Amino acid sequence: MSTLPPCPKCNSEYTYEDGTQLVCPECAHEWSPGAAAEAGDSERVIKDSVGNVLQDGDSVSVIKDLKVKGSSLVVKVGTKVKNIRLCDGDHDIDCKIDGIGAMKLKSEFVRKV
Ligand SMILES: [Zn+2]
Repeated sequence: MSTLPPCPKCNSEYTYEDGTQLVCPECAHEWSPGAAAEAGDSERVIKDSVGNVLQDGDSVSVIKDLKVKGSSLVVKVGTKVKNIRLCDGDHDIDCKIDGIGAMKLKSEFVRKV
């Protein structure tokens, strides 16, 4: 049992295996050992469409036309987005786009500039 890595969230050593997942009994965190080893720590890394690591304050450009939910607006391919903010969720970039306003983007549809 001592070969299991500690919990990446709370560092508990009482982790155990549940199928392919590792489980922490102290904070109930579940993760897959492969992913934990790759990330190195608990911080989530968000990458753009070509694998550049994105950070708060970066500028990106949109790589495909994106429909804005709940409106007829479209963010055109090539649109530059300044000062992005990373966030959690399916759409992991918070930003403001000229002419459209605040919206969320998926990191897979942008490219760092
Ligand atoms: Zn834990």
